[in-house]
Amino acid sequence: MKVVSAVKIGNMKDPDPARRGRVAVLDVPESPLGDEDVRIKVAYCAICGSDPHVVGGIFGWEPPFGLGHEASGVVVELGAKATKRGLKVGDRVAGNFRRYCGTCYYCRNGQEQFCENASEAPAMAEYMVWHESQIIRLPGNISLKNGCMLEPVSIGVRVTDKTNMRIGGRVAVSGGGPIGLITLQLLKMFGATSLTMIEPNPQRRALAEKFGADYLIDPSDQNVEEAGLRITDGFGYDLVLEVSGVPSAAESAVTLVANAGRLIFVAMYPNDYEMPLNIYRYCYKKEIEITGTFVAPYAFPRSARILGRMDLDDFTNTVYDIDDAEEAFRAHLSGNHPKVLIRCNKDLY
Ligand SMILES: [Zn+2]
Ligand SMILES: [Zn+2]
Repeated sequence: MKVVSAVKIGNMKDPDPARRGRVAVLDVPESPLGDEDVRIKVAYCAICGSDPHVVGGIFGWEPPFGLGHEASGVVVELGAKATKRGLKVGDRVAGNFRRYCGTCYYCRNGQEQFCENASEAPAMAEYMVWHESQIIRLPGNISLKNGCMLEPVSIGVRVTDKTNMRIGGRVAVSGGGPIGLITLQLLKMFGATSLTMIEPNPQRRALAEKFGADYLIDPSDQNVEEAGLRITDGFGYDLVLEVSGVPSAAESAVTLVANAGRLIFVAMYPNDYEMPLNIYRYCYKKEIEITGTFVAPYAFPRSARILGRMDLDDFTNTVYDIDDAEEAFRAHLSGNHPKVLIRCNKDLY
């Protein structure tokens, strides 16, 4: 079967990630099906902002390896003991790409994101095998195309879990990629006010406005701190989300937080980047709280229920067939599309 994979082209220690690895479609044998496993024929798998970083070696994985974690598809085979969820062949599904053991300290401590035995199988492939615990049945009104957005939506849901939102709280989102725009939609539902998107790309700003942003800041020609303080009557935002992954944006995000407000880092930053932070000003005098998010523990069932209330069509318009995956990654990196999908099988809609 075909799997969109990261392959090595140069030294994995090369300072330029683009010279380390590239994307290729490899032909690999299908994975064996364990007793509690489910084989899924993949319909769509979206390209994540993290995928090019993974190809560039950010996790230190040795190529070649398969890519993808934002998938939807149809159940085609069930292991003999994959019976706890009542899944059937033909079910339309999506789910959590991470398989947790359920047995380690973290899994038993309500912190499955730190599972000591977590594993993942590539989803940008014609078929994938997941444990039945990973699977979410798609609601009937959600297409397979929009269904592959379940995973990005789960990240937004996880972000809302980490907020201290109260209705009417002022919120700023720095970065209008898919996660920023999805989270903006969710925070609108949470009753955010002065909802502000900080984003240099005009198409992304326009989407933020469509999804309910009250204010837009263009950091390429506005002073972000001044603009944010003007919008919030000088108080700053109760909640600031930094979703761009750009170090300079991380540094200006801190300046926007209100007294006792919260700053959440949602993006992936260069792994050697260290941010300067004036502890006296922000932690002592202002009592701000700073945290982050890693994947989406316990968020998938709720994410499936909220999918139908979200505006997802703009993210699922650009589709490439699996054979054109390299071109799809180029389209993703061009920044001209809100999101790019890979169609992994042509006969599923
Ligand atoms: Zn992702
Ligand atoms: Zn575990």
